[in-house]
Amino acid sequence: MSIAALADYTKAQWKAAADKVMKNAPPGLFIDGKHVDALEGGRIASVNPANGRVVAEVAAGSARDVDVAVASALRAFRSGCWSRMAPRDRMAVMYRWAALIEVHAEELAVMETLDMGKPIADVISADLPAVIETIQFMAECIDKIEGSVTNTEWEVMHCVLREPLGVVGAISPWNYPLLMATWKIAPALAAGNTVVLKPAEQSPQSVLKLAELFVEAGGPPGVLNVVNGLGEVAGQALALHNDVAKITFTGSTEVGKLMLQYAGQSNMKKVSLECGGKSPQIFMEDLEDMDRAVEAAYNGIYGNMGEVCNAGSRILVHESIHAEFVDRFVRAGQDAYVPGDPMDPATNMGPLVTHKDQQRVLSMIEEGSREGAQLVFGGSVPAGLESGAYVSPTLFTGVNNQMSIARQEIFGPVASVLMFKNIDEAIAIANDTIYGLAAGIWTRDLNRAMRLVREVQAGTIWVNCFDEGDMTQPFGGYKQSGQARDKCMESLLSYTQSKSAWFRLSGQ
Ligand code: NAD
Repeated sequence: MSIAALADYTKAQWKAAADKVMKNAPPGLFIDGKHVDALEGGRIASVNPANGRVVAEVAAGSARDVDVAVASALRAFRSGCWSRMAPRDRMAVMYRWAALIEVHAEELAVMETLDMGKPIADVISADLPAVIETIQFMAECIDKIEGSVTNTEWEVMHCVLREPLGVVGAISPWNYPLLMATWKIAPALAAGNTVVLKPAEQSPQSVLKLAELFVEAGGPPGVLNVVNGLGEVAGQALALHNDVAKITFTGSTEVGKLMLQYAGQSNMKKVSLECGGKSPQIFMEDLEDMDRAVEAAYNGIYGNMGEVCNAGSRILVHESIHAEFVDRFVRAGQDAYVPGDPMDPATNMGPLVTHKDQQRVLSMIEEGSREGAQLVFGGSVPAGLESGAYVSPTLFTGVNNQMSIARQEIFGPVASVLMFKNIDEAIAIANDTIYGLAAGIWTRDLNRAMRLVREVQAGTIWVNCFDEGDMTQPFGGYKQSGQARDKCMESLLSYTQSKSAWFRLSGQ
């Protein structure tokens, strides 16, 4: 079944697919090419946040399981079955893997939606195509990794080789379970490393299938392993492991900082961090098309329930267009996202990932009102959906940048509008944050755009658009949003290390 064909599925077809998946939940760990149980019998429950029901009891790995998985990955690495495979053969495995993901798209999509509440239509139209594209892009790059020969004295030949690192430990979040994991494991594998992945405990299922498909595509056992489990147990054990050469992490800034400590406490492994954000979108008074800008503003914060690292959560609007901007935002944005059953292909907004996250977001909304921001719409649990972890799309105006809703990453559908007087103030507000993941700029003036691109501190700046991109685009943060770059060639190279080979030639 192609992904395109799934776009025509009805709600009843998705429900039937979900029943099938729930009856065949995988155990929870995938080590050495096989699904296995946890050695100490630990369990985590995957709960469907749309109704609070348990979807699957999945094995939760301990430090012992991590040891076994790392040993398997190390054996596979040292054997050369993957790292020394001819690049084009490795490429062929990855292409087959991408093709199998398309074949199994129905099952993968259902797992994603049951685990974390993402609208199934989004998984089909956005997440899965992006997963496939990531694997294909990294596969295409495999034989484009080059070393160099440097210009040295006549009696010397000096080559710089690029080699894989060894065992890569990947720790991923739940907001795009398959895609965030793939942004790590595809470049790591393409570069010839072996991998142990620790997915988020809220979304344990789909990545197990991903690993199984890798082996079905011809990936040698032990090259890609998955250990589900709690962050502070399995995640910590992986990040502290002395046989892990690099830890590549996507998640909160708080836990990202722990990764640096774990590396210091163990073997000084390399650490790549993709962390949180509080991204500004700056709407200048001369923007060209207010309707398009407003649409980008509400899509940028309500898409994926606001559970997006680069969500445009701070909407900075010039004072001269503020009233009209807010008026249009209310008219077009209030009902653009309607919370509902994520298994219904007509739904564009599901629940938040857990009831705990729902309570956290609702209490941040209360805090916003307490601090003096004006709640224009939303801010509550939508009627009729009380059993799920839902929060209605919410808009605050009258926000200033010292309020907690402007400073903390809410990770929910909560938009805050801040007003500014001039470009200097816009830049000052945009940069007054610990984060620096992304920003949007809306203006017709090229000089203004260039100044904002240069002065706003963020890893990605979108000009007259938001949240666009392709695989050539480095994606990552400035400041405490992290120091890694996903997606691009630079990402692939970050899973390699250079080796200098200095040949002393005898004179002739
Ligand atoms: P999180 O930091 O709570 O968890 C991320 C991962 O770390 C999970 O697998 C978790 O089990 C693990 N973990 C937690 N505690 C750990 C510990 N002590 N040791 C080792 N591992 C541990 O984040 P989350 O709630 O899963 O994801 C949301 C966060 O991820 C947000 O802050 C979001 O901005 C960020 N994110 C960033 C990007 C990016 O590219 N910059 C992309 C997606 C999400």
